Amino acid sequence: MKDILEQLHITANNKGVSTGRQWLESSGETISSFSPVNGKLIGSVQACDAVTYRQVAARAQDAFVQWRTVSAPRRGEIVRQIGGELRRKKEPLGKLVSYEMGKSLQEGLGEVQEMIDICDFAVGLSRQLYGLTMQSERPNHRMYEQWHPLGVVGIISAFNFPVAVWSWNAAIAWVCGNVCIWKPSEKTPLCAIACQHIVAEVFERNDIPEGVSCLINGYRDAGEWLCNDEHVALISATGSTRMGKAVAASVAARLGKTILELGGNNAIIISKEADLDMALIGCVFGAVGTAGQRCTTTRRLIIHTSVYDSFKQKIINAYQQLRIGNPLDAANHVGPLIDKGAVEMYQQAIEACKQQGGSFVVEGGVLQGEGYQSGCYVKPCVAEVQSNWPIVQHETFAPILYLMKYDNIEDAIAMQNSVPQGLSSSIFTLNMREAELFLSNRGSDCGIANVNIGTSGAEIGGAFGGEKETGGGRESGSDAWKAYMRRQTNTINWGNDLPLAQGIKFTV
Ligand code: NAD
Repeated sequence: MKDILEQLHITANNKGVSTGRQWLESSGETISSFSPVNGKLIGSVQACDAVTYRQVAARAQDAFVQWRTVSAPRRGEIVRQIGGELRRKKEPLGKLVSYEMGKSLQEGLGEVQEMIDICDFAVGLSRQLYGLTMQSERPNHRMYEQWHPLGVVGIISAFNFPVAVWSWNAAIAWVCGNVCIWKPSEKTPLCAIACQHIVAEVFERNDIPEGVSCLINGYRDAGEWLCNDEHVALISATGSTRMGKAVAASVAARLGKTILELGGNNAIIISKEADLDMALIGCVFGAVGTAGQRCTTTRRLIIHTSVYDSFKQKIINAYQQLRIGNPLDAANHVGPLIDKGAVEMYQQAIEACKQQGGSFVVEGGVLQGEGYQSGCYVKPCVAEVQSNWPIVQHETFAPILYLMKYDNIEDAIAMQNSVPQGLSSSIFTLNMREAELFLSNRGSDCGIANVNIGTSGAEIGGAFGGEKETGGGRESGSDAWKAYMRRQTNTINWGNDLPLAQGIKFTV
């Protein structure tokens, strides 16, 4: 890893606060980043303190005044160059993601690919920030709408996508004319430092002022400074529902804007008319990929009674083939959980499931011994449950898969919708009526609803996000950019008199 860290400008002790090329002294706590892969210390990072935060925020505000005057296509050109740098650094950055977060190397590289893809998307978008032209009810008047940047965008991100989620927000926010302050997860600070170096080089090469891309490493308090700062126009926060509720309350108290991307509890319906072999791949990858630590991880399978036993057996057989170990080794399917706290939550959830009546058809457990010294490797497990049990209604961020039975499709959809979260959902069926019902307004209540595809692994071209306790925000593709801009309606009178709207007569 040493050469990779060097390529990414990561040292043993790193400053954690930056406004671009400049790295600021701060006196926050030291964050030590240990790899869940082998338990070794990768490096330390100095967290932000309140005074340094204010310096960063002031720099960002100043930068916005300049950045908003740069044309959108030119801003897009700079994001294009960032995409180019990411292409060059894909291998080392992907490895660092894998090593610091614990996801497989394929998924680490995939995360960087997503960053590249969103840069490409943002470049095109930079010439397409379209507003509508409307017909005015008054003669000789023209009415249209246009979109302006918001100002400072605060990005709070979670550990499980340590780089991609930031880029989804930052690339779009930048082409829209905003500046960004990023508060990454305290569990993956080095990935953030690596990204900041990559971006800062591009900004410097283009004479872009300090402050367009800011980084504040730190704990929850750093996120709270951002949320309470009235100069931060938009907070885009990705993480747990607990965090989202706190963020929503503090930002709403000052009438700021939020994009909330919170927890999921995603289900796949397996119809009696499913292609079961295809469904199996989608279910197993969805449940164990990233060791069950994706917001879109498959947590529940709702299986038709007539295929329940045979599909359960397929799942059990597939789980027996899973290889758990070092995620940098391509032969392994499942890496570690992020830390020992996550392992404890996994164990508590298994216990709770058993107490509530769950029976495990694939047993869980914490792995020990050679290769598992970090204490973060667990066995993906599968339990038979009832939909309304509290543990099934709750998102446990670990590879625990729940199996349930259904008899008719309406019941299956009701079960799928019965949880507080509303992120991703899917149905495997070759029956067109079932598929269309699932996608209809009587179907899935989630932000993402798929047919013959699992719940995890969204493409950047669509708007990403979910309903209910998932927060309602949308990021990434489609017209998600509109949340990063303010809409202005303009009416221009080019005539010789002043007719009032609604035909109102007023003379003096
Ligand atoms: P977390 O909520 O513990 O932390 C997320 C971020 O929020 C961190 O940077 C943390 O420091 C910060 N934070 C925590 N409390 C805060 C507060 N009160 N004010 C401001 N900032 C605060 O989440 P995590 O454990 O890092 O990530 C796992 C969770 O994230 C899961 O619930 C997962 O489903 C969710 N997630 C959702 C999406 C999505 O797009 N919907 C994507 C990835 C992860």
